Amino acid sequence: MPRYRWETEEHELFRESLRKFLQKEAEPRYDQWEKDRLIPKSFWKQLGELGFLCPQVDEKYGGLGLDFSFGVIIGEEMERIGAGLTGVGLHNDIVVPYIEAYGTDAQKKKYLPGCVTGDRITAIAMTEPGTGSDLAGIRTTAIRDGDHYVVNGQKTFITNGINGNLALVAVKTDPDAEPRHRGVSLLLIEEGTPGFTKGRKLDKVGMHSQDTAELYFEDCRVPADNLLGEEGKGFHYMMEKLQQERLVVALAAQTAMEDMLRLTVDYVKSRDAFGRPVAAFQNTQFKLAEIATETELGKAFLESLIADHLDGKDIVTKVSMAKSWITDTAKRAAADCMQLHGGYGYMEEYKIARRYRDIPVMSIYAGTNEIMKTIIAKNMGLSGAGAR
Ligand SMILES: Cc1cc2nc3c(=O)[nH]c(=O)nc-3n(C[C@H](O)[C@H](O)[C@H](O)COP(=O)(O)OP(=O)(O)OC[C@H]3O[C@@H](n4cnc5c(N)ncnc54)[C@H](O)[C@@H]3O)c2cc1C
Repeated sequence: MPRYRWETEEHELFRESLRKFLQKEAEPRYDQWEKDRLIPKSFWKQLGELGFLCPQVDEKYGGLGLDFSFGVIIGEEMERIGAGLTGVGLHNDIVVPYIEAYGTDAQKKKYLPGCVTGDRITAIAMTEPGTGSDLAGIRTTAIRDGDHYVVNGQKTFITNGINGNLALVAVKTDPDAEPRHRGVSLLLIEEGTPGFTKGRKLDKVGMHSQDTAELYFEDCRVPADNLLGEEGKGFHYMMEKLQQERLVVALAAQTAMEDMLRLTVDYVKSRDAFGRPVAAFQNTQFKLAEIATETELGKAFLESLIADHLDGKDIVTKVSMAKSWITDTAKRAAADCMQLHGGYGYMEEYKIARRYRDIPVMSIYAGTNEIMKTIIAKNMGLSGAGAR
């Protein structure tokens, strides 16, 4: 049974082969990866060999020339295993699309084939210790000096920060620009460039196998050829590409919610209290009926949103709604599902415990849910003249 109306036989086969691969290669190792706090690079190479990295990339750069619908399938199947595999979706559907959309032919030839094979693992570095939501306020500078930019500054919370060997870095090429966002540009910075160092792997509440890190730039000389697109257009590019990023996060939260519902329904049927299954209590039934209803609402919303996105329609307002509503709903559902597991829900050997830890960040990254609501409100005409 296809999950979405737009799925073809090709999608179904793709999902089936990815699921089989993940069941064999990822599921049995995932707990160890969580303990190691890292997914091995060899796993990325395996994904690349089987065509599960950036299948949307043009065939002339080594990809399969497919569209984002295959990215949806990859994102869902990875999330089914665990949120620690988020970095793969970030590489496939968030960072690489910038190179595809704004890169020169030379940049595409240089970087895309490695992104498809898994030799190149990408990261996007926007956030800094002093600024996250207020992206135009970044302070990392890139000052032109002949054929190079000299980069100075610091980034934090960077997904794939440790495994990554190519970072797309938001910098200020004109620190005095007014309005501030006009001074923002994007630079491709390779691991090993003198002056570019990685900081510590950050110790997170959840998503333990996901490598999140700090990046430092100290008089780091980056060839001017590594500018992505035009100078001063970086903010505009990010606003454009953040839409797909938010869709990817909403999809992950939806998948996690479906997984939590399934886990909890199974658990309450098998656990007895007061001589009957926990599933027989009306409170259990009402809670799970509510979560099941919200799960269906999220799925229907996403299905139409994915279709609109594939058709190239403007999804800014609706994707902000989906990202904030689904991630908030999933966070509430995680707490209810843990509660229904009783004490076992608080034990690491039960997957619900991991889901409970992993979910909250989804309402924080890719633009916080508060920022999502400011976008929705603005597009409702609520922040114009006269609004308070
Ligand atoms: C695990 C993880 C992975 C991440 N991966 C990446 C990555 O790969 N690349 C990257 O660049 N960044 C990444 N981030 C950073 C993430 O995008 C930021 O944390 C996020 O955008 C929020 O920025 P901040 O942490 O500076 O919070 P702040 O901007 O300081 O916000 C603090 C609080 O104030 C609220 N707030 C701020 N402005 C407003 C407003 N105008 N109205 C109402 N409320 C407001 C926020 O919603 C929030 O609740 C990651 C973060 C985490 C935790």
